[in-house]
Amino acid sequence: MCFPLPEDSMDRALAALGEFGLIGRIRARMRQSSPGTRLGIGDDAAILDVMPAREVLVTTDMLLEGVHFKREWGCLRELGRKTVAVNVSDIAAMGGHPHQAFLGLGIPFQGITLAEIEAVLAGLEDEASTVDITLAGGDTCASLSGLVLSLTLLGSVPVGQAIRRSGARPGDGIWVTGNLGGSAAGLWSLDRGLRPGMAWPAALQRPAWLGPAEEAAVQAAMATHLTPTPRLAVGQALRGHATAMIDVSDGLASDLGHVCAESGVAARIQAGRIPLHPGALVAARWSGRDGMDLALRGGEDYELLFTSSTDPRAVLAGAAPGLPVARIGEILVGPPVPVLESADGRTEVLAGGFDHLRIAT
Ligand code: ADP
Ligand code: MG
Repeated sequence: MCFPLPEDSMDRALAALGEFGLIGRIRARMRQSSPGTRLGIGDDAAILDVMPAREVLVTTDMLLEGVHFKREWGCLRELGRKTVAVNVSDIAAMGGHPHQAFLGLGIPFQGITLAEIEAVLAGLEDEASTVDITLAGGDTCASLSGLVLSLTLLGSVPVGQAIRRSGARPGDGIWVTGNLGGSAAGLWSLDRGLRPGMAWPAALQRPAWLGPAEEAAVQAAMATHLTPTPRLAVGQALRGHATAMIDVSDGLASDLGHVCAESGVAARIQAGRIPLHPGALVAARWSGRDGMDLALRGGEDYELLFTSSTDPRAVLAGAAPGLPVARIGEILVGPPVPVLESADGRTEVLAGGFDHLRIAT
């Protein structure tokens, strides 16, 4: 039972299809069976096999309209992909393998079309199929506040081999894959009115120094924000090599802070070694912000941050050829906070990063 909802405000095609018609479409288009999934969409609950010698991983991430994305960006297929990718990134950060997903879908009562929902589903399907995930269930409701996408993803890892945040030890190196700050730069660019794959908008003043190379960097940053690539193969390859791991979802400062807190160790990173996304440098120059701040506090890059007592580069060259990985600092004995050392040797305790329940000061 629910409260009565306003009549005649839902898109006609969507209203004609109805909740069960839509679930039927989801069921028809998403892969249903996979090893380990006995029964997916269609009953009161899914039936999954218990996997011998493996532990189950469970993670949930929500994407909310107005909080995480704006529908007017027109990037709904990308949104579907991202809904899956951010959850896969959490499984990757444990060193695991993703299996079954469950989708909580809140459909806004006004202004969304069936075509837009179909675009989200197409993106979900794209990303799920690249990593062999089955959509095994979910729930569909009307939403009075905007589009809600909540995905719960189950995965697994051999017993005892998950890579936790709590395993970092003094003397370990601190490593990060890829580069950082691109997602924050991409979000900033979307907010200015730039769109992926589209020409510079006439209404937006273009800085004189911003040439084709800078524009390409900003385009790449928007792609990072809209369709991040979870580092699944890297996470799996690091089992037995990384001592602690986390994905960079809230920004390096905050995420390294979590590793320090859970491991009970200090960390020192060198500013000059932090790999910055080229788009972060462009957005920084354009906005007057510090590019390093986008990397440290922007978040949503979905790279892997890990610690290791050995050099992981040979392992990663096999798992993800061509993906850069950088040693940015080391784990130390001390208070469980990260410290940033700048080029001139000055140090500062790193704080900040994205916090949903904190108001910017
Ligand atoms: P119940 O009322 O018993 O919870 P529902 O009518 O909500 O059942 O769901 C019917 C079936 O459709 C279930 O198998 C459920 O997991 C699946 N389902 C509902 N919504 C979604 C969704 N958004 N994505 C995937 N499966 C869904
Ligand atoms: Mg239900």
